[in-house]
Amino acid sequence: MLLGGTAEARELAGLLSADVGLRVVTSLAGRLSDARDAAAGNAEAVRRGGFGGADGMVDWLRASAPALVVDATHPFAAQISAHALAAAARLGIPLLRLQRPPWRAEAGDRWLRVPDVATAADLVADTGRRPLITIGRQQVAAFFAHSICSSLDLAVRCVEPPDATPPPRTTVLLARGPFTLAGELALLRQHRIDVLVTKDSGGDDTRAKLHAARELGLPVVVIDRPPPLAWPAVAGSVTEALRWVREHSAADR
Ligand code: NAP
Repeated sequence: MLLGGTAEARELAGLLSADVGLRVVTSLAGRLSDARDAAAGNAEAVRRGGFGGADGMVDWLRASAPALVVDATHPFAAQISAHALAAAARLGIPLLRLQRPPWRAEAGDRWLRVPDVATAADLVADTGRRPLITIGRQQVAAFFAHSICSSLDLAVRCVEPPDATPPPRTTVLLARGPFTLAGELALLRQHRIDVLVTKDSGGDDTRAKLHAARELGLPVVVIDRPPPLAWPAVAGSVTEALRWVREHSAADR
């Protein structure tokens, strides 16, 4: 069973579905943004929607009896990961965490690392007047609710419209990666962005904005990942995860 919602999960599912004798069930949160996963056309099965907490996941795992669980959810999807860790431990099912490495600052970067979204919202007004916020549609509400942010010209980029109502001077840009350096430079210039806000998501699909900010000398508020969990096994790439699944499924057969 593969907990998905990321590019890595899609890639791993595609590769594993070619393995004879291996059946993959991908689990998605069931939000609109999962549509691409459904369209991926992989032969593997997809289940959708929350399990109902760690207890619900235990029930599902008992009923479906997967040999292995791979948690390939996004680095900021802390709740589902905590549930996977607890549920797999309770049933003794081998569990792998597939997580892309965090981004690393390079020479010329002006990064301000913060521990969470609330701190980023506190900091952003000290850093610029025209921020571009690229943290997804759910948590951007912290910026919308912040008193100082209502005096800023916010630009918010997300795949789907934000859940919360944006303040009047907000431009919502709907777009889905991967993004190119040329495109990111054009966007930052067009909207005269003077500070970028991002989660430390890692990966290549959305990395170009960091490069563009460096080229333009812009500060970047980087929200740190949630604290790491005590995973029994971790893979930093799809290739490593593929190896782990093949080794462990061979042992199981
Ligand atoms: P979250 O806060 O960790 O999860 C909230 C709840 O959503 C979970 O407790 C679970 O409900 C359900 N859920 C989440 N992922 C699920 C999955 N793969 N399969 C079944 N149920 C799932 O997660 P989130 O940050 O809202 O992210 C939701 C999904 O979007 C994840 O699959 C993640 O990989 C993807 N995603 C997240 C981000 C991000 O920045 N957070 C970015 C890109 C993609 P129950 O407790 O009822 O089981």
